[in-house]
Amino acid sequence: MDVMSAPAIQRNDNCFVLALALLSGRAMIRALSHMALIVQKYGGTSVGNPERIKNVARRVLESQRAGNQIIVVVSAMSGVTDSLLKLAAEVSEHPTEREMDVLLATGEQTTIALTAMAINQLGGSASSLTGAQAGISTDGVHTKARIANITPDAVHRLLDDGNIVIIAGFQGQTSDGRITTLGRGGSDLTAIAMAAAVKADLCQIFTDVDGVYTCDPRVVKVAQKIETISYDEMLEMASSGSKVMQSRSVEFAKKFGVRFEVRNSMNTNPGTLVKEEENGMESVVVRGVSIERNQAKVTIDDVPDLPGVAAKVFDAITKANIVVDMIVQNVSWDSETDISFTLSAADLPKAEAALKPLVSGLGDKVELRTQSGIAKLSIVGIGMRSHSGVASKMFTALANAGINIQMISTSEIKTAVIVNESEIENAARVVHTAFGLDA
Ligand code: ASP
Ligand code: MG
Repeated sequence: MDVMSAPAIQRNDNCFVLALALLSGRAMIRALSHMALIVQKYGGTSVGNPERIKNVARRVLESQRAGNQIIVVVSAMSGVTDSLLKLAAEVSEHPTEREMDVLLATGEQTTIALTAMAINQLGGSASSLTGAQAGISTDGVHTKARIANITPDAVHRLLDDGNIVIIAGFQGQTSDGRITTLGRGGSDLTAIAMAAAVKADLCQIFTDVDGVYTCDPRVVKVAQKIETISYDEMLEMASSGSKVMQSRSVEFAKKFGVRFEVRNSMNTNPGTLVKEEENGMESVVVRGVSIERNQAKVTIDDVPDLPGVAAKVFDAITKANIVVDMIVQNVSWDSETDISFTLSAADLPKAEAALKPLVSGLGDKVELRTQSGIAKLSIVGIGMRSHSGVASKMFTALANAGINIQMISTSEIKTAVIVNESEIENAARVVHTAFGLDA
């Protein structure tokens, strides 16, 4: 989970509350005319080539012709943002983040123009807007800016004139006119925030899968599509490896109560509805199982059990810009303890470099041990709050399959274990079955 984003969202609450209050008149007119305002977001794969852009154009027009007002938010065509990053690296070792944003924003700008053209070609009437033109103001943190407020006047003017409005995702503008981008996957955030700002009746996130699944269907063939999931479960699934959407946008949706659907842009199958928690949702104990591969663990053995030791260790890790996941400290009986944590295997060399100088200073017996080739398996469900025996059921399923558990961590709605990476797929399958999730 991107914890860093929470304070920023809070800081911006007031702007949004104000914007929402001002818009109630328009919502009333829509209600009287039985017209819905829909925000549809199409990800990079869904607009990945001209044929697919034409497919989006047809779908959008169909939704409008069914009597709705449509705002479309698009990503860059798949692969474009990555190639822009590569291009930058070819001309400069350290491009400024200001110029990086000018460059990256062109990916989405290409897609809005092409999508509008495709709709117009089909006889529709569409106009494109960059993030700035759509009134998206951000702070000045280049390459990971946060939305400060949205003034959707231009959007409303175009909608009122009967246009489909195509907005570039992932970008905004600072108060002094600099182009910013919202962090990788940021088009989701544009769609959710825009839906909140215009008080949309519906927000649809179109992607290349049918929705959120009980587990990755490539691993668990019998995984099922989840019909309804709460924001918290969606966030826990995302932070434990099931990346369907950018976590920041799910947090934002929760904060502003934006219900949204995750759907497939290539078919008309019903998707997954993501919404606030409701009575009855707790009857399902485990909503989903997620897998995160390429993990590593670090153990610092026999450190003195004194105030400030953990602080020193994690201060060094933070300074090296490493994000840790599980942290486990042993109960100490003999004035020494062991601290273990997990991290992405890619960060292991950095962590070793940061900790080696520190470890010798902590005491003679202190030892640094590391291991990669591990993976994390998590079960997530708000039903865990009110059901007992969830962890033991998971551990029993793993034991029966002969899979050793190396670390365990729990939160209110999640139980996660670390196992050998070679066993993760089997682990996912047996746990999926144990909780009755198989189709
Ligand atoms: N194009 C950006 C990215 O690839 C934003 C997005 O697709 O949501 O991260
Ligand atoms: Mg020990």
